[in-house]
Amino acid sequence: MAVFSLADFDGHEKVVFGNDLESGLKSIIAVHNTNLGPALGGCRMYPYFSEEDAVKDVLRLSRGMTYKSALAGLPMGGGKSVIIGNPATGKSEALFRAMGRFVNSLSGQYVMAQDSGTSVADLQAAAKETSYVAGVEETVDDQGNIRDGNPSPATAFGVFVSIQAAVRHQLGRASMRGLKVAIQGVGKVGFALAQHLHGAGAHLLVSDVNEKNLIQARDRLQATVVDNDTICKVEADVFAPCAMGGAINDISINQLRTSIVAGAANNQLATPQMADALRERGILYAPDYVINAGGIIHIHYMRNQLGWEASTQHVRRIGDTLQEIFARADAENSTTAAVADLMAEERFMPNGVFLASDETIGVGVGAPQLMSNGR
Ligand code: NAD
Repeated sequence: MAVFSLADFDGHEKVVFGNDLESGLKSIIAVHNTNLGPALGGCRMYPYFSEEDAVKDVLRLSRGMTYKSALAGLPMGGGKSVIIGNPATGKSEALFRAMGRFVNSLSGQYVMAQDSGTSVADLQAAAKETSYVAGVEETVDDQGNIRDGNPSPATAFGVFVSIQAAVRHQLGRASMRGLKVAIQGVGKVGFALAQHLHGAGAHLLVSDVNEKNLIQARDRLQATVVDNDTICKVEADVFAPCAMGGAINDISINQLRTSIVAGAANNQLATPQMADALRERGILYAPDYVINAGGIIHIHYMRNQLGWEASTQHVRRIGDTLQEIFARADAENSTTAAVADLMAEERFMPNGVFLASDETIGVGVGAPQLMSNGR
């Protein structure tokens, strides 16, 4: 299987394979870039169809984290890990402790957080073996409530302030009252986003594959429930993809009847060309990794005990970054996606080069295999 030549390899500093026979752990940690600091990123557990799929996924996600943290103004690099396995049936304390030892073997170069398929409880098991785990601490919020490490509320708040910025830029409106927002997926982030929008007077149209989530949005937020096949065709001001990646694709691009796309889902554009297609249609795109950075910002603040208030203020500044992206895209006649990438690269590769050291050491759990490109 080719790795160095994969499109998403893109200068990764290190890719390490962990194999623990006793617990059955099969994991990959990818560290894309540490110019700005240790690589912070989630650990995803998923029953990948093939090892190749797992490698491609971890590389793509890890690279994305470098861009996300850089544009969020965090002193963090980009990395990610995957565990090959079914989160519904394959979890055990031993598995996550082995994962903790695997993470620990990188001596802090990678800091593990939560992602799809993993929970705070899983991270707590890993944290018995390593201190390089983020998002496990209980904290007290501004209202004095005890909160677990779940980053979703912060992610949702960041998307909310981003929608405000996009609406100001595209529609010249300061108020959200009467705004129509179509949300695809009202899970942890989508529902919290819906609560903010509802509180600000917006009207919501929602779709989900989980009926319980739909009923909650309908009964608590007076949302109009829409069929999953219809959500990207409804007439509204904003389309907010908050479920899976690839919501903007060859089919949906011609169906959209909103003037803004701004949501929490990662990798919303099925192909990079979708950014141009949105622009040609006059639809303003708020780049996904810019506006969904609230969670990673919050995790960084909690891990370093910088406080809830400061974290919230930092998340709020995502709106300012977005305004800068919009203005630059207009001035440079470019897509917002291209401008966001450029601005991130200006931060983590200020001289147009990767700055990381020449380290080439990789360590696995049990019977280690290593790969590294040693930049
Ligand atoms: P979640 O699993 O809690 O919610 C996703 C929701 O989408 C669920 O309710 C699910 O039933 C629904 N869904 C799945 N497939 C669907 C489909 N085809 N059509 C409509 N609905 C569908 O996940 P989440 O934590 O809310 O994350 C949502 C998205 O935001 C994901 O893409 C995630 O990667 C991204 N994201 C989340 C965070 C975070 O802090 N949780 C941070 C950054 C990015």
